[in-house]
Amino acid sequence: MLATNGRLKLALQRSGRLTDETIQLLRSCGLAFEHSRQALSSPCSNFDLDLLAIRDDDIPEYVQDGVAHLGIVGQNILSEKSARARTLLPLGFGQCRLMISVPQRSRLRSLRDLNGTRIGTTYPVTLGAFLKAQKVRAEIVKLSGSVELAPALNVADAICDIVSTGSTARMNGLRPLLTVLESQAALVANPKSLSDKRTGPLIERLLIRIRAVLEARGKRYLMMNAPADALPKIQKVIPSLKSPTVVPLAATGMVAVHSVVAEDVFWDVMERLKAAGASDIVVVPIETIVR
Ligand code: AMP
Repeated sequence: MLATNGRLKLALQRSGRLTDETIQLLRSCGLAFEHSRQALSSPCSNFDLDLLAIRDDDIPEYVQDGVAHLGIVGQNILSEKSARARTLLPLGFGQCRLMISVPQRSRLRSLRDLNGTRIGTTYPVTLGAFLKAQKVRAEIVKLSGSVELAPALNVADAICDIVSTGSTARMNGLRPLLTVLESQAALVANPKSLSDKRTGPLIERLLIRIRAVLEARGKRYLMMNAPADALPKIQKVIPSLKSPTVVPLAATGMVAVHSVVAEDVFWDVMERLKAAGASDIVVVPIETIVR
């Protein structure tokens, strides 16, 4: 049943790893709301949207049941709960992997070696589907926490757990064997609310904003002056510059060139632009890019 009162409801993690970046993303979309870890529901004052702060394990079900129209949750949780919620957009944060790891000195070296072993996990559904698809017969030992201790306690021969840097696994004498699932935070929706005549257009408006913020991430706006005859060389330095904005300057023969560059190649690009004849290079952050 879809929640009604005309306002969109978005469920987010109440308190945890995804909370801060979720709040930051929503604020970057121009949404004005008060957020406190105590409040279950925070209304936006400039958009028909209420934010519901709940346990992230509950988000897929809230969205499936229409208690929330939208949710922001890790794909790992989504996979494990196998709820009927449609993924609209991966959000580029909360990256982690669900991995099978084994003790450093284990004889287990490949996927096939897992046949006949016991694998401890808090992700039995996702692991079960993976093993079935890979035609591996292993016993899944369902655990509720401290998974990395299972091999040392002889409860399991391998574990399947969330890894981001791998340092926790290493500290516990484990070595990664293979990846079961790559995960990041995602925006998910109740399928019915997408076609609902009240919530559908609201979701579409919100999506345009989120896409615009994500599109601008990791990009910089670049402005420079250059002699007009240096343009061909400058275009070679920035291959994405197919149709640059070129503005004539008061000084004869000089132009201003504007473009967008990826943050990670910026310093390299800047040195080569200087060598190509550009000067007065200015770089500014971009908040949004609406396509
Ligand atoms: P938590 O706040 O620990 O409950 O984590 C919430 C979500 O953050 C998880 O469900 C994953 O989607 C994501 N995440 C990213 N890195 C990690 C990690 N190293 N361990 C656990 N969860 C992680």
